[in-house]
Amino acid sequence: MTFATLGLIEPLLRALETLGYQTPTPVQTQAIPAVLAGRDLMAAAQTGTGKTAGFALPLLQLLTMEGPKVNANSVRALILVPTRELAEQVHEAVRQYAENLPLSTYAVYGGVSINPQMMKLRKGVDLLVATPGRLLDLFRQNALKFNQLQTLVLDEADRMLDLGFSEELGNIYKALPKKRQTLLFSATFSDAIRMLAGQMLNDPLSIEVSPRNVAATTVKQWVVTVDKKRKPELFIHLMRKGKWKQVLVFAKTRNGVDALVEKLQGLGVNADGIHGDKPQATRQRALDRFKASEVQILVATDVAARGLDIEDLPLVVNFDLPIVAEDYIHRIGRTGRAGATGQAISLVCADEVNQLSAIEMLTRQTLTRQMEPDFEPEHRVPDTDASGQVIKKPKKPKKPKTSGGGKRNLGKWVESGEASAPEPSIKPVRKVPVFNTGPRKRKP
Ligand code: AMP
Repeated sequence: MTFATLGLIEPLLRALETLGYQTPTPVQTQAIPAVLAGRDLMAAAQTGTGKTAGFALPLLQLLTMEGPKVNANSVRALILVPTRELAEQVHEAVRQYAENLPLSTYAVYGGVSINPQMMKLRKGVDLLVATPGRLLDLFRQNALKFNQLQTLVLDEADRMLDLGFSEELGNIYKALPKKRQTLLFSATFSDAIRMLAGQMLNDPLSIEVSPRNVAATTVKQWVVTVDKKRKPELFIHLMRKGKWKQVLVFAKTRNGVDALVEKLQGLGVNADGIHGDKPQATRQRALDRFKASEVQILVATDVAARGLDIEDLPLVVNFDLPIVAEDYIHRIGRTGRAGATGQAISLVCADEVNQLSAIEMLTRQTLTRQMEPDFEPEHRVPDTDASGQVIKKPKKPKKPKTSGGGKRNLGKWVESGEASAPEPSIKPVRKVPVFNTGPRKRKP
């Protein structure tokens, strides 16, 4: 299979040749002909599968071959993404693919001044990459009109819902022309995503390039159990022992990112951090320096690291487990790309047992556990397995109780985010979005 046999035009083939893409990836093989044929698409594809080219190439071809010239303040194709980093990354990919085409492209996102974006949109752009909040701001300030819109792409749709963009998506949906092509990409398919797809897509072709909700199999994953307060010490020990060179580390909170970076820098380690409190330019610089191997250890929160595309990243460390289990798949998707093997190590303390259980249930695997000599936890992490059970240590038999108030089981997380029994320290937060968008209107 070649890109030419998928029906791509010569200017695109030339751009791909420059980029060194030789063979289409599975998601590209399936998506490109379908999008060219005008179909709606619902694709289960993780980052690293080549999904961006899967939607961007045919989209650029359709924009070149079909439709009128773009009007002032108008846009012909819209790619919605969850974060500004991903907006930049997708736009960069689009620019490279569109190198030989007479199309205008642009990216808009929040956290930076809106005025230059309004100026840029005056002439209209053929393809716009946007985060939902900023897009709505621009629309409400009449800087954008959607009457020429022919294609909508929702990239990393699960992430947009996790980040609480469901209301924005509902409002954008209301403003778009009903007759359009819609492509939805998501790493995971929860009920909320299926609901969104039901509303936004028309007779979509379903594409699945990796088993649903299963983490990349090329990543060797394991857990090191440790007491919470000793995590920084263990991290430094493992880093030195393993002679880690380029590591992406995930911490749960902004403070956690800062504290670890400070500790590492204090030891003379070349570390930097990215999180939502830092200005966009600082975050971008840290990413660029990490990609260029000028920074050895990059510590990030989930939001900041979203969409980060680094080739051949050997190791991801979960300093904290994510609150939302799906984030685990996104995190470890940074390594083991394009057939390369990667490693993902999670430092897990007793408080995180329910998160571990939810991850194992979602990825349908029991993660191998290791204990590092001298770091054996005082607070044991209860056993877990892929069934979602948290197995407490067997206790000595007690006298049977006479009343009904027996011990409650620890419970497992369910899709809606409600634990079947309360676990004091961790409260899963999963919003189920509501779309007040009225009945779906189909394409004529
Ligand atoms: P994505 O899943 O879209 O984030 O893409 C992951 C990486 O794969 C990016 O660095 C792309 O440039 C690269 N890529 C995408 N398609 C191909 C291909 N057909 N051949 C080689 N590299 C590719």
